[in-house]
Amino acid sequence: MRLVLLGAPGSGKGTQAAMLRDTLGIPHVSTGDLLRAAVKAGTPLGMQAKAVMDAGGLVSDDIVLGMLEERVAQDDAKAGFILDGYPRNVAQCAALEALLDRLGQPLDVAVKLEVPNELIVERIAGRAAAEGRLDDTPETVRARLRVYAEQTAPVADHFAEIGKLVTVNGVGELNEVFQRILGALPT
Ligand code: AMP
Repeated sequence: MRLVLLGAPGSGKGTQAAMLRDTLGIPHVSTGDLLRAAVKAGTPLGMQAKAVMDAGGLVSDDIVLGMLEERVAQDDAKAGFILDGYPRNVAQCAALEALLDRLGQPLDVAVKLEVPNELIVERIAGRAAAEGRLDDTPETVRARLRVYAEQTAPVADHFAEIGKLVTVNGVGELNEVFQRILGALPT
């Protein structure tokens, strides 16, 4: 199963992706995690990405695509993957399609988690406190929500147009939301 998880920052995508990984036995590929690892390791790309991430903007399409290509080419992704945080704009939709075509591994489904904005802001504040994520300051969160509305929301429209979008209510207990996602996956 190759699936993309869509949803605003703080929609619970990361948590649900990890639960899907454990249940489906396929890797959770998060471009945010790949970028944070590169920043932590102090690689040249990581150093380039850091300022943009700290400001809540989007890292350049080329950098993220390069990291993604490297990750999905690894052996454990042959049986499928859960993509979290990519695609983030319409150009990345085309890049993903081209990459998966090249690998002969078409996408099965895009799952969009829907959570109202008020709840998102509350959740991110909680996560900032719990995880100490440096890109979770109130200003950055506002910037990320703006970027999401402007650039990432159209990504769901793209998947709807190609008949691969399912929408899941992301409000509720973790397990409840998880069961909704499982129920929405193609068989
Ligand atoms: P996330 O963990 O998915 O919320 O990502 C954290 C930050 O990493 C984002 O605010 C962006 O700066 C950057 N990022 C993650 N994925 C992408 C992507 N697909 N394209 C561009 N920037 C990204």
